[in-house]
Amino acid sequence: ASDVYKRQDLNGNEAIVGTSVGITVLTDGSHTKAATLLQQADLALYRAKNECRGTIQFYAEEMNQQLLIRKKLESDLRIALASDQLELEFQPQIDLSSGKIVGVEALLRWNHPTEGRIPPDQFIGLAEETGLIVPIGEWVIRNACAHAHDWPDLKFAVNVSPVQFRSPDLVDFVRRALADENVDPGRLEIEITEGILIQNTEETIAILTQLKDIGVRIAMDDFGTGYSSLNYLRRFDFDKIKIDQSFTAGLGHSPEADSIIQAVINLGASLGMTSNAEGVETMEQARILKDKGCKEVQGYYFGRPMASSSIQELLADQEWISVETETAVIDASANTAVSPAKTGTGSR
Ligand code: C2E
Ligand code: MG
Ligand code: MG
Repeated sequence: ASDVYKRQDLNGNEAIVGTSVGITVLTDGSHTKAATLLQQADLALYRAKNECRGTIQFYAEEMNQQLLIRKKLESDLRIALASDQLELEFQPQIDLSSGKIVGVEALLRWNHPTEGRIPPDQFIGLAEETGLIVPIGEWVIRNACAHAHDWPDLKFAVNVSPVQFRSPDLVDFVRRALADENVDPGRLEIEITEGILIQNTEETIAILTQLKDIGVRIAMDDFGTGYSSLNYLRRFDFDKIKIDQSFTAGLGHSPEADSIIQAVINLGASLGMTSNAEGVETMEQARILKDKGCKEVQGYYFGRPMASSSIQELLADQEWISVETETAVIDASANTAVSPAKTGTGSR
């Protein structure tokens, strides 16, 4: 599609202008209204832009169906917050040197009255496009802070969307939520993805700095999956780098994944940032990560996202935690068969 992109010089700044086209074809004589035709062409254009910029798409009835489903989901999501359909689960984060749970990550769940449980991947994007992520995100922060008393010795992480960074009072909101719930700011870690820094980099870094000033920690989530991550590591002093689960999945059988993970762990260590590997599903992965010097892990092997009360049970069951991790991770040389760790009650 190179010929549909034109480079333009705007007073020395390079601008790239792209073209996408949506087409609809009149199939039933003159009975379709002009407005309907325009709407159909627009839907096709929307698809062309979304799926493959720089292409031509023809309208298909299925596009209209998808739009209706989206509209329904959007109006359902508006009700979800008010009618108590949202819920937080918490996934344990394990320190590899002590084998202990040191923190949890709060993950949002939507219990839809008729569709059942909808995973965040299917509604966070919609919430971001409609702006609903702002009140939803505030609910997440407040709720996570309220639960922080369930496990007073743990840190807790909350995912914050780039859209929330555009709302002017994020920092105030976080400060107030912590104060109202009487929670030490040092226990809260805000996870952001690399995408957050692409636009308005200066403003975003200013907000991140203010958050750090009130004592909150900042983690870069899904490291390595976005753009220019290395550049951002230079520009902001993150407390933690989270290695994306796609790299973890390749550990032990993809030499590239092994090298990338080793490089990220070393990079983190030299910049004074903790490393956390996500998506650890086997003892073998945990062992390799520990060998490579990774500080912290989370994944189904150690516990799925679960209710706050299940985290309390895990903590009370200290014997299980230390024995399993000691056999599995700390004492990896003991060549005994280890049964997979108990995995809580979560759904994913
Ligand atoms: P994330 O922040 O990178 O969270 C990790 C995701 O990996 C979670 O998916 C978790 O359930 C899943 N996971 C954990 N361990 C394993 C494992 O061993 N194997 C595999 N295959 N998966 C594992 P989940 O809960 O579906 O969340 C997906 C994404 O949705 C999150 O990715 C995060 O980007 C977003 N999200 C979740 N909650 C929130 C929220 O409150 N606010 C915002 N803005 N985004 C959220
Ligand atoms: Mg996360
Ligand atoms: Mg992640």
